[in-house]
Amino acid sequence: MNELKHLPIPLLQWYQENARVLPWRSDPTPYKVLVSEIMLQQTRVAAVKDYFQRFIKVLPTVADLATVEEDRLLKLWQGLGYYNRARNLQKAARQVIEQFGGKFPASYDALRTLAGVGDYTAGAIASIAFGIPVPAVDGNVLRVVSRITGNGDDITKLSTKKRMSQAVGAVIPVRAPGDFNQALMELGATVCLPNGAPLCHRCPAGEFCRARQENRTDALPVRPPKKMRKMEKRTVFLLFYKGRVALRRRPERGLLAGLWEYPNELFPVEKIPEEWGLAATGVSFAAVGRHIFTHVEWRMTALVADLENDCLPKGWVWAGRMELDRDYAVPSAFGLFRSFVEDRLRAGERSERP
Ligand code: SF4
Repeated sequence: MNELKHLPIPLLQWYQENARVLPWRSDPTPYKVLVSEIMLQQTRVAAVKDYFQRFIKVLPTVADLATVEEDRLLKLWQGLGYYNRARNLQKAARQVIEQFGGKFPASYDALRTLAGVGDYTAGAIASIAFGIPVPAVDGNVLRVVSRITGNGDDITKLSTKKRMSQAVGAVIPVRAPGDFNQALMELGATVCLPNGAPLCHRCPAGEFCRARQENRTDALPVRPPKKMRKMEKRTVFLLFYKGRVALRRRPERGLLAGLWEYPNELFPVEKIPEEWGLAATGVSFAAVGRHIFTHVEWRMTALVADLENDCLPKGWVWAGRMELDRDYAVPSAFGLFRSFVEDRLRAGERSERP
């Protein structure tokens, strides 16, 4: 991976001229770097910007994050998905308070002990917030390194990641480790693109990049073929009573753990299950929708019913428009039904007025 030794100077120059202005870059405290990096896992920069600003406004310090109620935290996270990231973020904040006296430790190994903080995130905080020369190798960086070095090893393998991290670590400039790591990620995100042709004519590594010279940019990086996603048909019940909609909490483990949802069951359930003990005036079709998770796709049919009374199974709640907006984190898988639900709630509110 000798090509990498040519990288630091042109890359840092390129970064100075091309770095995007992002809200977490202006004052990269360890807390802000942690929050932004966790949000950016599995989520695009454009989507994260507003979430990050709102999050930091409501929870400006690590102590605020450590003490916020879980429902409030999940509400702030609503729409970002992968909610365990938010829970781990809070666990990490509590560790910082309890184990490190409220200050992030200025050590890669100590950062690595925080909940949800892997090699990449520890490297990002250490290099960006503390100026420690350690690599921060994410998917973008693996792609760039694979292409520059013409390396055809499977980038999903731990051994490949380790070798590439070591190769990056060997060329990190000690005076600008944070900028160097961010520049590599930025190059991957904006120039050395994952799908479609990379913009090699704009790339500071163009002159020594093996993939470009050998015309192999579309063959690198190498990863195993994706497994087929499982498909699940689900029937979603939008149940109303006097301007409120019924929600139930999902189990504490597994997909969307602990979040609130409209009650739903696997197809072929097509009417309100008897064991819920609910009396409805009639059930009709409301909408269809689908949502794609990493390993499963939900194909949903939503049915709507007005209930005859407000008795709900244990653990379920009624939510009016305001509570739905303010108190309950309903995952974006159900976002397709949001306008339908809001219209019904509004109509219910009107009919309740004296
Ligand atoms: S020259 Fe092209 S393939 Fe090589 S690192 Fe730059 S953008 Fe990627």
